Amino acid sequence: MCGIIGYIGSKNPVEILINGLKSLEYRGYDSAGIALKEKDKIEVVKSIGKIVNLEEKLKNEELISSHLGIAHTRWATHGRPTVENAHPHTAGNVTLVHNGIIENAEELREKLKNEGVSFYSETDTEVLAALINQYYKKDPIEAITKALNEVKGSYALGILFKDREDLYAVRKDSPLIIGIGKEENFIASDIAAIIDYTNQYLLLEEGEIAHITKDTVEVIKDGKILDKKIQTTNLEKDAKDKCGYDHYMLKEIMEEPVVLEKTFEPYLQHHLEKLPDLTKYEEIHIVACGSAMYAGMIGKTLLEEYANTKAEIDVASEYRYKNIIYNKKTLVILISQSGETADTIAAMRKAQEHKIDTLAIVNVKTSTIARESDQQIFIEAGPEIAVATTKAYILQVGIMALLAYKTALEKNLVKDEHHVLEEAKKLPRLIKEVLDRREEYKKIAQEIYKKEDVFFIGRKIDYATSQEGSLKLKEVSYIHSEAYQAGELKHGTISLINEGMPVFAIVTDDSIKDKTFSNIEEVKSRGAKTIIISNEHWENQKLQVTVPKISPYFQPLLIVPTLQLIAYETAKLRGCDIDKPKNLAKSVTVE
Ligand code: GLU
Repeated sequence: MCGIIGYIGSKNPVEILINGLKSLEYRGYDSAGIALKEKDKIEVVKSIGKIVNLEEKLKNEELISSHLGIAHTRWATHGRPTVENAHPHTAGNVTLVHNGIIENAEELREKLKNEGVSFYSETDTEVLAALINQYYKKDPIEAITKALNEVKGSYALGILFKDREDLYAVRKDSPLIIGIGKEENFIASDIAAIIDYTNQYLLLEEGEIAHITKDTVEVIKDGKILDKKIQTTNLEKDAKDKCGYDHYMLKEIMEEPVVLEKTFEPYLQHHLEKLPDLTKYEEIHIVACGSAMYAGMIGKTLLEEYANTKAEIDVASEYRYKNIIYNKKTLVILISQSGETADTIAAMRKAQEHKIDTLAIVNVKTSTIARESDQQIFIEAGPEIAVATTKAYILQVGIMALLAYKTALEKNLVKDEHHVLEEAKKLPRLIKEVLDRREEYKKIAQEIYKKEDVFFIGRKIDYATSQEGSLKLKEVSYIHSEAYQAGELKHGTISLINEGMPVFAIVTDDSIKDKTFSNIEEVKSRGAKTIIISNEHWENQKLQVTVPKISPYFQPLLIVPTLQLIAYETAKLRGCDIDKPKNLAKSVTVE
């Protein structure tokens, strides 16, 4: 997430920091705070809710006059959104802001407690502040280095020391740039936050620590000052929107928790009332192209499996020309991010010619499909710029899951209603947790990026998820990949498995886990390098990713982000043009 800004210079930082926070806020945050420093005094003001709350609070405070400050908007991962948990956090000499997750925070908290440190918040961030403070013996670089050597997880940090007049920054798996101004310098997790003041910036890489004063920026690695190149950006369209990430694809994947929360909110608030009632239809045809079709495949599986509702899935380019046997009580669901996909528009018109009801799941509200369909459900993905869809796909799957769940509810097929809705509310947080484990995905990418063929296997819903994982990988990395129903492999395809060939197995559906496991053994014994993506830990399996277990309606929403990031990291290692894969286009408005 993007939520840090820092300033050092001749101006008063308050206005700059608040404006910066506001430009970061569109991504949805729950609390905010600011720390101002002058001489040996650090003043911290925090508040819950929107940035305007913080702004109001600041108006009523007698603030110290200052030229150095850091500010943060929080998207809580450890501890509730309270004032105590809001950033900045202070421990002794150290005050800092943090984006990311410290995975071994509890272990470190215990260690520090044994050393006599006490804590006031529930956050992982305070632990980090305390750890740096423990190591601080007047040398900031040494303290930061020693502390981060003990830390597992992701972070972008802006750090102040009580007895120093400068600003420090460091990052790992979370974006942070240094803005270079005239007699002033900045740090920001999104260049948009400082674009009003400068378009010159330095990219901070992992393992580097920035030491920033009003007139100088030193970037230090392994004790040496690096000669970093200052970059200029035409921020308007490019880096501004990329939020400091290397690619739109990565930025858009990282937005998934926030856009999911926003998309689900109206439905969860009103107990799914606002979703259409599918029970009046005898059968559902889901029609779409590419990833949207795979989102539909998950919808079909959920509707049949849990809502006992007949559902078909078809690619729009086939559906439009086929002899479709309609029943008066058929509903056609059209899924399209842009709402302008030519084949999907044609499928919609075909259904309408037969006087069949149409329901569109779209992102662009002004699009043809949004305007011409009978009913619409809008996903709140915001603009999606990378050609390979990520966040829009997640939202399409999310909506299909809610639709299937509502249908099951109306048919009295749900035993524990409360539980599923509670799980839906937890999803943004869980997705963020999964996204923050980038090191694991980088390791898997290392294992596969030199290969030319990969398989994905799974059964039932895990097969549908495999399809999207396979598509994402081939779209962006150009590695040939195929998704197979795990039980179907031995009817021919298994002859293609050879020594060292990566086979991803998606295993989450409890009703069929054992069967898939046998298929994993089959490919293993033929030399495959298996990678299991599951909601449980597998013994004797070297390469695996274990995501949290959640209601089966939502399990794909935790699996697919891992597959998207594996595809991303693999494409990166292969030097591909990730945001614009060759031969593809974002919105396919031709047949
Ligand atoms: N893990 C930290 C917390 O929960 C930082 C969250 C963030 O990235 O905003 O406070």
